[in-house]
Formats: sequence, structure tokens, C-alpha cells
Amino acid sequence: MRKALCLAILLLSVCAIAAYAQDAAPSKDVTVADKDRIENWTGKTVMVFTPHPDDDTFMCAGIMELLAKNKNKVIIVIYTNDNKGSLDLEMTRERLAGIRRAEEEAACEVLGIPKENIIWLGYEDGDLEYADPHRLRGEACRLIKKYRPDAIFSVDPGDEFERWHKTDHRMAAFITKDAFIASEWHLYYPQHLLDEGLKPYRVPLAFYYYTTSPNYTVDITPVAEDKIKAAAKHVSQFSPSLEKYTPEMSEQTFQILRAGGLSRSKEGGKYVEKFRREVNP
Ligand SMILES: [Zn+2]
Repeated sequence: MRKALCLAILLLSVCAIAAYAQDAAPSKDVTVADKDRIENWTGKTVMVFTPHPDDDTFMCAGIMELLAKNKNKVIIVIYTNDNKGSLDLEMTRERLAGIRRAEEEAACEVLGIPKENIIWLGYEDGDLEYADPHRLRGEACRLIKKYRPDAIFSVDPGDEFERWHKTDHRMAAFITKDAFIASEWHLYYPQHLLDEGLKPYRVPLAFYYYTTSPNYTVDITPVAEDKIKAAAKHVSQFSPSLEKYTPEMSEQTFQILRAGGLSRSKEGGKYVEKFRREVNP
């Protein structure tokens, strides 16, 4: 996560952005039959596209763990290496990229998702908008054709966030959405079929996080504490590690994170995550 934004989000966050979304635009959930609700799926494949190695945790950890527990395959695609967000003057980009990778893997381990399911595209933190968009869309498109997910989670490309997001979030939102379209037609990136036998694929369902228009609420109460533990693995995103890196989080910092995260995700006696659900995106 880019620092200024991410830190703001973080100390707001874990579940806070969900709260932000709720506050920003109260909305009615769509009606979905119990058997079709994603939290009841089993044996499916779900991909989570994330700008940085932590946005997925903060926004989707609850549903990611529920999906993993229900024996679905969860694949995480991370656009950037998050290698610039530190205030520690002795930190280097190379070292920070390694720290952020290890933190993401540790967070995913809490959620029951093996590190082999994490795909790192490796773009420089903060530079995603300056990468070649055709190549970037092609990479996302290729992965969609390869894994053929039953649903994709990604940053909401809605107009509110074009304004609000930092570059990496904005770019990730648009590129992922554009990759849905490119995946459907074999004449976009025809080398995927010709060279690798990857057939076109239509993404059937999307869930957008960082949204101002939520229409789908997931009850994450059974895994809410795990979400906090996973978020706490991103130690370097929080003070004081942000200012002077230390690999451990103090009990005091953890308790602040826990209290904030739980309170902000609470709704009607449950802990929730909220998304904008779109069929045939
Ligand atoms: Zn981020």
C-alpha cells in the first residue's frame, strides 16, 4: 500500500474501509440465493487482484479465509512489490520488497492460503500507472484465462475511486476490469491461445472492494479475529515499524489495531466485509 494512503487506511483500516464504504453510501444488498452466495461455495476457484501486498488482507481477508476453509482455491495476484512505503531512512527498496513479500505470505498463512497461490507481478510501488498498460492488461488477462476463476475480487473501478485512489489502486482497478473484456475474446492477445493453448474465458462474477457502492455483505464473524491476526502480519505498515523497521508488533499496537478493526467492521452484532457484486462484469 502506498504509505500516505495506506497508513491512513491502515489505522482507519483492517475493516475500516469497509466502514468507510458503508458510511459513504448506505445501500441495499442484492438478493442472492443461499446456495449461490460466495461464502457458501465449495470446490471453486476465486482470484483476488490487489495493487499491494496488504490491500487484499485489509479488504478481503474474511471472505478469503472462508473460501479457503470451504475448500475453494484462492489465488492472489499482486501488481506491485510495495517497495517504497517506509519512513525509515535506512530502509532500501530491495529490503522493503522482501519484507513486504514475507508479510503477505505470513498473512496468507493465517488465512489458510499457501504462498504458492500468490502471484507477484513485481511492478514498482507507486509506478503502476506508468507501466505499459497493454502489457499489464495482457498479464492479467493471461492469468484469468489460465485459472478460469468463478469469481474475481478487485478494486472498484467506480468513478468515486478514480478521484480518491492513489495511482496503483486506480490503475489496478481499471486494468483488472479491462482484462475481463480482453479475456473473453481470443483476438486480444492471440498468443495466449497460439503459444500456450489458453482459451478465452468470460469472467462470470466480480466483487469489488474499496467501493462506495456496496451491495453485498459477507458475515465474517467466525473469522474476524483471524482477519486481525492476518492484518497484524503487515508489521511494517504500522507505526512504529513504519518509521524505524522492527519485525515484531508490540502487544499495545496489536490491541489498538484489533479494537479499531473490530469496531469498524461491526454491523448489527456481526463483523462484516462489504463489496459491490457484479454479474457478468
Ligand atoms: Zn494499497
